[in-house]
Amino acid sequence: MSAEASLPGLVPSAQQISAVVVEQETMATNTYRLRLRCPELARQIRPGQFFMVKEPGTNDPLLGRPFALFDIWDENGEPAGIDFGYVAIGKLTHLMTHWSPGDPVQLWGPLGNGFPEPGDGHLMMVAGGIGQTPFLAVAREALGLKTYGRPARPLDVRPSKLTLAYGVRSREFLAGIEQFTMDGLDLQIATDDGTAGHHGFVTQLLQNAIQSETPPDKVFCCGPEPMMEAVQKICLRENVACWLSLESPMACGFGACFSCVVPVRQEDGSWDYKRSCVEGPVFPAERLIFED
Ligand SMILES: Cc1cc2nc3c(=O)[nH]c(=O)nc-3n(C[C@H](O)[C@H](O)[C@H](O)COP(=O)(O)OP(=O)(O)OC[C@H]3O[C@@H](n4cnc5c(N)ncnc54)[C@H](O)[C@@H]3O)c2cc1C
Repeated sequence: MSAEASLPGLVPSAQQISAVVVEQETMATNTYRLRLRCPELARQIRPGQFFMVKEPGTNDPLLGRPFALFDIWDENGEPAGIDFGYVAIGKLTHLMTHWSPGDPVQLWGPLGNGFPEPGDGHLMMVAGGIGQTPFLAVAREALGLKTYGRPARPLDVRPSKLTLAYGVRSREFLAGIEQFTMDGLDLQIATDDGTAGHHGFVTQLLQNAIQSETPPDKVFCCGPEPMMEAVQKICLRENVACWLSLESPMACGFGACFSCVVPVRQEDGSWDYKRSCVEGPVFPAERLIFED
């Protein structure tokens, strides 16, 4: 069962939630999927939003860590919880690999703005590494297979074409291929070492699509910063509308600590710092300034 309490202040819709582990599976090398029971979060969260995760009863690590929604799962036709994918890289994610069914988990969310509506035309999602996780829910919503949020946003138009270009270092890091294999989604793979799909960077798949007969009208992108910067450059040069979902490290997740600020261009040409947790993590590509 989950107990909820509203978070004070900046993100009124977000709640502190006591969740429970339902299952954990290995998705790829060092990459896992956790299923949590948390109906209230599952009813509210939308594609591209995230939540903070903490192990209760320990102060090491002291702060929660942000993770993107992979998908929601249903029980008796009602949203019952969320799935998320993670790579074990540091303190919390290594602790998480030991979590098993019945273990308690502290969450707060939903947080962040999420992706805009998919619209009509060709929507191309470009993912690098664990940056694929937000795109399962985007794809299922765009194809009309699932609705998200309360109330669910009405999608009057659907993309005429939907592509996921997904790049990883090597075949062993491909995660969630089964879930991404669905009618209506053109799944294209790239590996740096050529062990699966296109041999090279995922940005080449974007370039190929732009030069094809059905170029993307809109690009959603999530992945390592250098890859997102490359996608930003390509889309600006080719005049393709693009949104980038940042994975800036953050401490609080609800706008209080300013640890996740990123420089963003303003309407008048000046720039200002914006908090990735509340004003993002999804930003129009033309607004973001990457600092080298
Ligand atoms: C909005 C958002 C959504 C995210 N979604 C996912 C997701 O779906 N799946 C997933 O695996 N990860 C995701 N991340 C990244 C995830 O939050 C970090 O992997 C996590 O904080 C690591 O925690 P840790 O305690 O294991 O590592 P720590 O002990 O905190 O750090 C270990 C090492 O990893 C580095 N590190 C920490 N955070 C990041 C980061 N964001 N990017 C690159 N290096 C980092 C640190 O500099 C350090 O060297 C997301 C981040 C954001 C901001």
